[in-house]
Amino acid sequence: MSQAPSVPDIQSIVRQVIAELRGAAPAAPAPAAPAAPPAGPVAPASFVGRHGIFADVDEAVRAAHEAFLHLERLGVEGRRRAIAHIRRISIDDAVELGTMEFEETRIGRLPHKIEKLRILGERSPGVEFMRSEVFSGDHGLAVIEHAPFGVIGAITPVTHSLPTITGNAVSMIAGGNTVVVNPHPSGKRVAAEGVRRFNQAIHRDLGIDNLICLVAEPTLDSAAALFRHRGVKLICVTGGPAVAKAALESSKRAIVAGPGNPPVVVDATADLDRAARSIIAGAAYDNNLLCIAEKQVFVVDAVFERMLDAMGRAGAARLAPSQVDTLTARAIVWAGEGAHRHQVACKELVGQDAAVLARAAGTAVSADVELLFGETAPDNPFVPVEQMMPFVPFVRCRDADEAIHRAHASEHGFRHTAIIHSNDVRNMTKMGRLLDTTLFVKNGPSTAGLGLGGEGYISFSIATPTGEGVTTPLTFTRQRRCTLVDDLRILGAAE
Ligand code: NAD
Repeated sequence: MSQAPSVPDIQSIVRQVIAELRGAAPAAPAPAAPAAPPAGPVAPASFVGRHGIFADVDEAVRAAHEAFLHLERLGVEGRRRAIAHIRRISIDDAVELGTMEFEETRIGRLPHKIEKLRILGERSPGVEFMRSEVFSGDHGLAVIEHAPFGVIGAITPVTHSLPTITGNAVSMIAGGNTVVVNPHPSGKRVAAEGVRRFNQAIHRDLGIDNLICLVAEPTLDSAAALFRHRGVKLICVTGGPAVAKAALESSKRAIVAGPGNPPVVVDATADLDRAARSIIAGAAYDNNLLCIAEKQVFVVDAVFERMLDAMGRAGAARLAPSQVDTLTARAIVWAGEGAHRHQVACKELVGQDAAVLARAAGTAVSADVELLFGETAPDNPFVPVEQMMPFVPFVRCRDADEAIHRAHASEHGFRHTAIIHSNDVRNMTKMGRLLDTTLFVKNGPSTAGLGLGGEGYISFSIATPTGEGVTTPLTFTRQRRCTLVDDLRILGAAE
């Protein structure tokens, strides 16, 4: 016996038909005036004109779905054009948006906030990463294509609020998807401003709005609602242990770019001056906010003092043992209760300048010093804690084996990033195998692992526990196979 559709079903069918009719119309190059925002309690049929900003998760997901249906009709060329606007704005408005991010979050360094937007705009993997595979044989052809998931739910960190959204949006749209972002509350304003600019430009050119949607007042509840929403087909989270755990426990497929605590090993064969320059370049970048940044260094005894001298020559400032102790007491604090009690970086010092940390250590350095360092015991809390501030502990080790094993322990099995400075291929191999990290950089700064001064490409979502690695458009696609039996293949005997 057939049943009449329920009221919500009819509403959603009507919305879908209207969305499809809109999508079937030729793309309007420059609509005179976008549709007015919806009014009243009735769910609107279209969200065009909202430019991606939503108070409500459900509305954001429905708008992103509407945009997804529209994007499908514009093909790969539509994706390419939409992405070109994101790239252009990220580059052209980098100073304004980077300054906004710096003023809102109050962490990191302004030149790097600006540079990150430019780099993500220029180099995030786009449609050029899309490809299909073909199997050709006696029985015909099979083509494997990479299809979009649909609406992706993304969680982004405060450490790179808009750059993460920029990179995610480029790669997710290149894969044919749309996205709803629940940003970190402390970076929500710049996130909203970037998303609004991206959507406005895309809408003006392609007549398609809300490719990137954003929850304007993000909370843990709105993150949970996004995880649960039926319209969200895939989750991508970028953040620390709590959100990584929540995503791994969710019932949906999740791409998890989780925390790191990248160790560095320096052995007796290393070029010490090069190692020092590299450690400073990576660890001081944006005041150590990068998840890939050098966080603790293990140096073999034979070159320990010479390595510390090299750090000084390269411009870092050494703290005396008593200053390290003072800083440690201020910078690493306890959090959680009972069995969950653990040490974390003190929020007030995360992402602050070296000069601020020096003051906390009871000393002073000039404003142009980018990084502080000092000798610590292996059990100093700076070693296991992901500090995200420009002080790096140096631990003296008997030999390379001890350094590699201590590096392994300090990484906590995150399998995120590790760095070695060495010209001994055995030590490189030993460390690479034991730490088993997603990024393993030899003889360069950690940033080389993202193609900055090294080979490869960049993303600020490096999927670690779920294994996708540095994300690309293909990360956000599903495989579909199309098989044609016997015909079409032109190899074989003529009839
Ligand atoms: P964070 O974990 O405090 O916040 C990240 C995001 O998760 C925020 O949007 C936050 O609101 C949300 N969140 C936190 N707990 C949640 C929960 N239980 N459920 C749902 N959402 C939750 O991290 P942060 O300080 O913003 O960023 C720094 C952390 O992110 C570091 O640990 C760093 O290593 C990591 N990170 C990883 C990558 C990577 O590519 N693997 C990139 C950047 C940052």
